[in-house]
Amino acid sequence: MKAEIIAVGTELLLGQIVNTNAQYLASACADIGVNVYFQTVVGDNPSRIKEALSIAKNRAELIICTGGLGPTQDDLTKDVLAEFVGDRLVMHRPSMDKIEELFRSRGIPMVESNARQALMLEGGDPLLNDNGLAVGVGVTHEGTHYILLPGPPREMKVMFDNYANPWIRQKMGGVNPLFSKVLRFIGIGESNLEHELIDLIETQSDPSIAPYAKEGEVMIRLTTRAAGEAQADEKIAPVEREIRSRLGQYIYADEDIPIERAVLRLLQEKGQTLSVAESCTGGLLGDLITAIPGSSQAFVGGIICYSNGLKNKLLGVPMELMEGPDAPGAVSAETAVLLAQNVRLTTGSDFGVAITGVAGPGESERKPAGTVYVAVAHSGGTNVELLKLSGNRETNKLRSAKNALYQLWKVLKQV
Ligand code: ATP
Ligand code: MG
Repeated sequence: MKAEIIAVGTELLLGQIVNTNAQYLASACADIGVNVYFQTVVGDNPSRIKEALSIAKNRAELIICTGGLGPTQDDLTKDVLAEFVGDRLVMHRPSMDKIEELFRSRGIPMVESNARQALMLEGGDPLLNDNGLAVGVGVTHEGTHYILLPGPPREMKVMFDNYANPWIRQKMGGVNPLFSKVLRFIGIGESNLEHELIDLIETQSDPSIAPYAKEGEVMIRLTTRAAGEAQADEKIAPVEREIRSRLGQYIYADEDIPIERAVLRLLQEKGQTLSVAESCTGGLLGDLITAIPGSSQAFVGGIICYSNGLKNKLLGVPMELMEGPDAPGAVSAETAVLLAQNVRLTTGSDFGVAITGVAGPGESERKPAGTVYVAVAHSGGTNVELLKLSGNRETNKLRSAKNALYQLWKVLKQV
């Protein structure tokens, strides 16, 4: 089903509020297989709302409006839609009872305009408002389906999920729901991943294969329509098998979780602990790890050794190694290895991970921005990797931290 989202509100046009309702609705529509082709924003102006409806009617089968269901003068969406489809506004008794009850319980007289919130289209279906007073509407006219939702996000979301979503599904009739499966990758960029799978992506039909890049990681969503979970699994399995046969070494999860969660799971499964020594990432790695609930079971802690002095004092990296004309420098494999080994020994953890590098924008130690060393120390030895990143300071930091997790994940899989 083709859909258009119309957000009504002058505040949106003036840039005073962000159109988060459109984002929510777009993603909710995608989840149920409704294709949103257009999104419109229009002010609280009856003739322009009507114009937006006319345009949408020509290119969508479902039109979802949000905003303007309230009691005030500028809340016009219902009046405009009623006129547009040639319907009457009538009172929805249960909503009216709720409004009257609220005013009674607060002991204040009800202003007439509040009754407007209980109005609905005579030929439509009420969509209840579990978090507010204004009732929503679903109505079908000349083959086009219209939905009116309130503006406040906490009212809009609940009304959509509880009442509009089932209403839409019913209108969609016998169409099977969508099922999807996410594969998450690390250690391979989006373009390389696409290159490896290009023949599959180009000839995809069912399931569809959609790659996404996400904060230093890549994911693929496989989506299909099916009567149920079992049938969906059956359709997705062969495509997943083919992807795994080509890129299995980079897949760390078959669900939508970040690499830090996968790493923590492995640490916990194997009863291992971790500490970190961070220079250029300034604590970001520790932050990513501790954002996961339960991380304390495996994560001992870390040291932000930003200056050479601290690398020396707390983690025993000799000054001669970091400074002096012929020294490898603070950004070097030698320093990264010592940081990882010594943070592991100092904290008594099973794994020590270190990151030292040039986040940018300028160079340092005559090494270009984006030069980063990541080391992982464990009882079996120490691995070190050189990264040559090309992002800005912020993305270089994030990619360094994600890459450190990747290096750790590779080692963990083998122990
Ligand atoms: P009310 O009863 O509060 O008047 P309403 O249904 O008439 O609700 P609006 O008056 O259009 O809705 O908007 C009310 C508030 O809801 C706005 O001030 C804003 O905070 C929020 N809101 C409206 N539209 C959006 C939107 N598209 N995205 C995010 N927030 C929105
Ligand atoms: Mg309003």
